[in-house]
Amino acid sequence: MGYDTVIGLEIHVELKTSSKIFCGCKNEFGGEPNTRCCPVCLGMPGTLPVLNKKVLEYTVKAGLAMNCKTAGFSKFDRKNYFYPDMPKAYQVTQHNLPICYDGYVDIVVGHEIKRIGIERIHIEEDAGKLIHSSDGQDSLIDYNRCGVPLIEIVTRPDISSPEEAKIFLETIKTILEYIEVSDCRMQEGSLRADVNLSLKPKGSNTPGVRTEMKNLNSLRAVQRAAQAEAERQARILDAGQEVYQETRRWDDHKGESFVMRGKEESMDYRYFPEPDLPPVCLDENFVRTIKKSMPELPGMRRERYVNQFGIPKYDAELITQNKHIADLFESTTEICGNPKLVSNWIMTEIMKRINETGEMILESINGENFGQTLLLLDKGEITHASAIQVIDVLLETGEEPVKIIERLNLRVQRDETLVEDTITQVINDYPDALNDYISGKEKAFGFFMGKTMAALKGRGDPSQVKRMLAKELQKRMNQ
Ligand SMILES: [Zn+2]
Repeated sequence: MGYDTVIGLEIHVELKTSSKIFCGCKNEFGGEPNTRCCPVCLGMPGTLPVLNKKVLEYTVKAGLAMNCKTAGFSKFDRKNYFYPDMPKAYQVTQHNLPICYDGYVDIVVGHEIKRIGIERIHIEEDAGKLIHSSDGQDSLIDYNRCGVPLIEIVTRPDISSPEEAKIFLETIKTILEYIEVSDCRMQEGSLRADVNLSLKPKGSNTPGVRTEMKNLNSLRAVQRAAQAEAERQARILDAGQEVYQETRRWDDHKGESFVMRGKEESMDYRYFPEPDLPPVCLDENFVRTIKKSMPELPGMRRERYVNQFGIPKYDAELITQNKHIADLFESTTEICGNPKLVSNWIMTEIMKRINETGEMILESINGENFGQTLLLLDKGEITHASAIQVIDVLLETGEEPVKIIERLNLRVQRDETLVEDTITQVINDYPDALNDYISGKEKAFGFFMGKTMAALKGRGDPSQVKRMLAKELQKRMNQ
């Protein structure tokens, strides 16, 4: 407890361009091993890489969305090291002149906004993939991922808790989805993070020794790994020992980390300028055109929702975290006209279903059918329970809400005679409860209410039933 946690993140993002970074090979997850590669991405002697313009565009887009400056002049470098998944024995990256630098991203922690500095965003190529056989005897290499375009987002060490690290990564993911430069599928490795973490005595300005945790591929893993590492370092410092600067690997199943390599073994990558690629001189017009085409970002949307629709900041924050959900909120509100009702339903019933079955449900529900359902609810034509039923059916069948309501006979029953007869019947059926009520037991009212609503098959109008039930019970008391 006596330490401040200092965290910086390095986030690798695969860009969803249609072709790879330096060749025309298809950029897509999966595929039969070694079917999406060519002499260029395999780094054969005599081949020449050519930079994919889309990569440049997407990187600038990401930079602008994260409030970065764009460099008029930047270049590529070779990072030399040997690994079997990298046939060239070097990775093309940007060492000291990244394309974007000096930005920031605001995150919401509790009810506070916190600003996290972005040191740089640079472009690099991804490596291939090693597949190890289960008996540990063989390793196979799939080069399909070689030359997939990546950006690396490097933060300043402004993150001060594992929870903030998770929120930050979540925010970055949302932004990247809004600007549509990556599919951000963490389970497929499109977005992965390295966590740099150190502790220092509370309030101190002297930085502690930091460790680096590599390749975390879920929001949960980032938070858990950071938490475990902070605790591990605290135990070492509490025991009066030294934390070593090292690279560690997180095992999410075991919930612990292991040393990959220490500082002594740290690599000297012998960076040097990539001779096969010319430096990049960003044209002002190019940047300006991208700036003009930028979509509305989550933070901007959040504010607009509060101002335009008058929903609470909390609702706006939750809804804008996912672009598809935000789109659903807007199209539904357009039909239903009651923004707060829509946000309530999204935050409860819709999010519950997304958590249970995944985001695919957003393909079955849209502003039209969801809006119609909520409009009928808002007008009192169906009850809350019926609206839930309608949504479940339309998610399954895609049927129109009005048709579902007619077919299942869900319209609210307001026929005075019918309601009155039902109430009389219910009271007659439960003489003990009536005696309870007459002797002053308030709870009996709720009992009758429930029984009447059930007898009306959930289609009664609660306020009407309540009013008529009170009247009838009063009459019985006076008898
Ligand atoms: Zn290729």
